[in-house]
Amino acid sequence: MTKRYSFLALPLSTLLMAFAHPTLADTQVVMLGTGTPVPNGERAGAGVAVIHDGEAYLFDLGAGVVERATQAAERLGIDSLYPTNIEHLFLTHLHSDHVLDYPELLGTYWWRRENPLQVIGPKGTQGMSEGIYTMLAADTETRLKDKSPITNPDTAYAEVTEISQPGTVYETDDIQVEAFPVSHGDWDLAYGYRITTPDKTVVISGDTSINKEVEKQAAGADILIHEVISRTGWKDLPKQWQDYHQYAHTLTDELAELANRAQPDLLVLTHVLHYGAPIETVVEEIQRDYAGEVQLADDLDVYE
Ligand SMILES: [Zn+2]
Ligand SMILES: [Zn+2]
Repeated sequence: MTKRYSFLALPLSTLLMAFAHPTLADTQVVMLGTGTPVPNGERAGAGVAVIHDGEAYLFDLGAGVVERATQAAERLGIDSLYPTNIEHLFLTHLHSDHVLDYPELLGTYWWRRENPLQVIGPKGTQGMSEGIYTMLAADTETRLKDKSPITNPDTAYAEVTEISQPGTVYETDDIQVEAFPVSHGDWDLAYGYRITTPDKTVVISGDTSINKEVEKQAAGADILIHEVISRTGWKDLPKQWQDYHQYAHTLTDELAELANRAQPDLLVLTHVLHYGAPIETVVEEIQRDYAGEVQLADDLDVYE
């Protein structure tokens, strides 16, 4: 079931401005996929949408995320998440659980799309995109020469920018997206993102082991969306898997320490690896050491 959370962490002066200018407080965060590589019928692969001023900014696109985006448009009335309206995609890294719906988004109803999808991601994003064009070439070529009208032939392909260095990767008058490096196993280039709008700062950890840069970026953020692995679930794993997970992911007690230092107004847990332990265990484990607000995200949860 979808849950909507409102939280008023803004100073009074900002709130008064928001009432005077309703568009100021219009940033929403929609959890499109809260899963991991472990198959889970209730959770799509990784995907978070930040909705601001009628535009959707997607961060990762794991399997099932496009279907969730369609559900968000249909059930929650968020039109900017209807697939052909999605124009901004940012990728944290190229693990399959973060990109498998990229072909889905490129291929879905592209002939009715007005503008090409803009994709920003780590080195390798361009090559991956070309692989998808090859995969979809028969569809693209047939539709292009067929009799059916095509709104904009350019939309069969994305406009890809590979991140050359951390910092601002996208900016308009009232939204800024910054990429920062995180530590995720052997990935040379894995990023987290910090999104700043007039009414909210949202930090997305991406997949990462415990990381000082995330802590720095999340300091005082309104919402920190962080991946996590349960200490209880982890300790029953074989040694090799324990070692890998500690190298690539963040244990609950490590995240509690980070949150204590960064003090986000809201900590949202996603991409939860829990193995033998029930998924709710991660909330209990974090609350043992951290008194701030923590939410375990489900698909289609909205924070506003
Ligand atoms: Zn992942
Ligand atoms: Zn990963």
